[in-house]
Amino acid sequence: MLGLIGGMSAESTAVYYQAINRLVRERLGGLHSARLILWSVDFAPIAEAQARDDWAATGRELAQAAVRLESAGAEALLICANTMHLNAAEVQAGVSIPLIHIADATALALKAKGAARPLLLATRFTMEKAFYRDRLVAAGLPALIPAEPDRARLHAIIYDELVKGVIRAQSKALVMQMIARGRAAGADAVIFGCTEIGLLLDPDDLGLPAVDTAIAHCEAAADFALS
Ligand code: GLU
Repeated sequence: MLGLIGGMSAESTAVYYQAINRLVRERLGGLHSARLILWSVDFAPIAEAQARDDWAATGRELAQAAVRLESAGAEALLICANTMHLNAAEVQAGVSIPLIHIADATALALKAKGAARPLLLATRFTMEKAFYRDRLVAAGLPALIPAEPDRARLHAIIYDELVKGVIRAQSKALVMQMIARGRAAGADAVIFGCTEIGLLLDPDDLGLPAVDTAIAHCEAAADFALS
């Protein structure tokens, strides 16, 4: 029984629900689907707390969700976002079931593609703070991040468009330009380090290896559920 902390945003949580069920059906065949419990938050107060750097508030909310999922019968937890792994330690501290960390699932998928120097595309928090990139470094994957103007543009695309389900061709073209600049700076792969980026771009369509963290995370979840 998987416990999903979702709603960050609801757009990508829908991807999680579909992907985990598809993976379980593909592996078990027939009419099988995944056993899971979804705790879906209201994203507005979370995003407001993020914007004022109040990670104690987001940590309290997510830790409470984790406790409730465990008491409802969850046997492993997923935080269905990259940014909110900033609170991974607080979430894990309050429960005795494992947290399946999105950066670990991503590192595994990157290595399977032979990547060594990935470009991390994500929210400003995930690109600029240490919590995520340090985890990649520990896995032997030092990531590049875009330069400042691109970081600002990407952060705005995520919060003004993607989390609201708004998909614009113009934004897709901008992110493709960021990828081209990352490649010129030495990146050999791309991390869709925000769970909504897969709504905008196809990871198999970039001309260099790419990992969609939402899908890599779902694969790790399906592995756990079926192990
Ligand atoms: N889903 C996003 C992520 O993977 C961004 C929204 C959020 O800040 O949680 O980081």
